[in-house]
Amino acid sequence: ANFGYKKVDINQKQSMVNQVFHSVADKYDLMNDILSLGIHRCWKEEFVNDLGVLRPTKIQEKDQVIEQPARVLDVAGGTGDIAFRILDKHKSRSSLNSKNLKVTVLDINESMLEVGKRRALEKSFSNNDIDFVCGNAEILPFEDNTFDAYTIAYGIRNVPRIEKALSEAHRVLKKGGRLMILEFSKVEQFPVSEIYKQYNMNILPLVGKYVVGDADSYQYLAESIDKFHDQQTLLRLIEEAGFKFASYKNLSFGISAIHTGFKI
Ligand code: SAM
Repeated sequence: ANFGYKKVDINQKQSMVNQVFHSVADKYDLMNDILSLGIHRCWKEEFVNDLGVLRPTKIQEKDQVIEQPARVLDVAGGTGDIAFRILDKHKSRSSLNSKNLKVTVLDINESMLEVGKRRALEKSFSNNDIDFVCGNAEILPFEDNTFDAYTIAYGIRNVPRIEKALSEAHRVLKKGGRLMILEFSKVEQFPVSEIYKQYNMNILPLVGKYVVGDADSYQYLAESIDKFHDQQTLLRLIEEAGFKFASYKNLSFGISAIHTGFKI
């Protein structure tokens, strides 16, 4: 199959993306480590650090105050990597009760979610900590004003209609809620830009071929990174979706970037 990004119609993109992640699911986490030389762990760590502490919502009911757990929606959450990091960080802050945070992982791909569910069991997380929902970022199966934070890591470039995903993010966030996007971005600085481009186009499919036995999927990943928006364009889309105080920061020369915005 030729996963040439340019030739793919927007309506076909989702089924192609689903095929890619179905194919790589079992080796997805290992491949991330190999291909980024472990650096994706640092980027994810920084992403989760930037999310900061999420506090439970206090609701006054008659004469008592009830605490509802802070809720995070991790979209395109796949194998649960970001969700586990958020939960681990929360638990490590000893003053915070671990029951005060719940992460919902949403992904369109059952194969990725299966790996995530298995890992959640291994890590002894319960349904009170985490739940897994199969769904589409473009049509979220949640009510308006449900979540305190919406995270999406290396997911948004795979969604065919980014504007729809961002407007859904805005809808399901509570007032004051925060959008956080971690995604590959653009490197401007020569010669890092050239080395990075060559690496993506040549090394990535080669390693994909020998480790996963699927060069096409990694060819798609490389092309999708190359074709994705630059920092400023994604920032503009976030603002157009209604988010305020939107900003971004580069990680490792812009190989990745963290974008954020708030629903006010
Ligand atoms: N967030 C995880 C991480 O950082 O390791 C997984 C990222 S993985 C590169 C991209 C994920 O996006 C895949 O699991 C894929 O199934 C999911 N995805 C693609 N299109 C989607 C959509 N329209 N809605 C929800 N998830 C989608």
